[in-house]
Amino acid sequence: MVDTARRNTGVEGVAGGVGVTALLVAAARAIETHRPDSLAQDVYAEHFVLAATASKGWPVHPKEVADGDRDPLWGRFARYFGLRTRVLDDFLLRSVHAEGVRQVVLLGAGLDARAYRLDWPADCVIFEIDRQEVLSFKHQVLDGLSAVPKAARVPVAMDLRDDWAGALPGAGFDPSAPSVWLVEGLLFYLPPAAETYLIDTVDRLSAGGSALAFEVKLEKDLLAYRDSPLYTSTREQIGIDLLNLFDLAPRPDSAGRLADKRWSTAVHTPFDFTHRHGRGPLPEENDALAGNRWVFADKPRP
Ligand code: SAM
Repeated sequence: MVDTARRNTGVEGVAGGVGVTALLVAAARAIETHRPDSLAQDVYAEHFVLAATASKGWPVHPKEVADGDRDPLWGRFARYFGLRTRVLDDFLLRSVHAEGVRQVVLLGAGLDARAYRLDWPADCVIFEIDRQEVLSFKHQVLDGLSAVPKAARVPVAMDLRDDWAGALPGAGFDPSAPSVWLVEGLLFYLPPAAETYLIDTVDRLSAGGSALAFEVKLEKDLLAYRDSPLYTSTREQIGIDLLNLFDLAPRPDSAGRLADKRWSTAVHTPFDFTHRHGRGPLPEENDALAGNRWVFADKPRP
């Protein structure tokens, strides 16, 4: 499967295009790490932000955000990423510690440092798929810190708009053993056909007892939120036009597709977890997060 549109490939690394969004999430995680009521700790995040030219001058600490939580970008949106990080940390750790899964796959891993910062069982393997240039930047920063992963880590350089299904078994992934998959902040950048291919590939490579979490946006017309505080401040403060990076074609029903393949699915709003954890974003008027859903899916054991 090869997508010919390639609308966001102008820049391949973290310097711009879709890759720079990995720095945006890293900055949010850095800020979260330094909050007194932090939901997630990522000591590596600020190093990515400080190392890249594209993120020059971005805050990495709450004290550098003049308007605090009132800032739509470095307040509310960063809180969103902090909450998402925590919820998905918990999901992955539950899968390995409570369900005994030993293969973890991070799709569109970006600058996710979970392999380095979470407590994994010693025999766990973490596969990270992103594009070569993003992974190279990540390795350059982590090598500079002499960072050591807490489990075996296998980076797999692939473009997820290509035919990537063979890459994982080729890198040592075992489709006959259960796995846990994370698709965090990725699907809205992919063309619909690549999303469907991804869901079908995860299903095909997943033994019974596997689990998947992914994030989708349900809005029919994302451009209706163009003037929302969140998109406006991201454009004006750091020059990232998220709507320009998203693939605006109608999205497939990936949760429904998995249910048709007999996975059990649970669909949550982020706000469900704000209530659960006592912090995080709450709904607001003209809310670019209104259609965001976090989907958790389990493939039954035979
Ligand atoms: N999952 C990471 C996190 O939450 O920190 C990164 C999220 S970042 C918003 C989106 C990531 O998806 C970037 O690292 C980008 O390089 C990656 N990505 C986007 N399109 C991709 C593609 N076609 N193939 C591989 N990776 C892609």
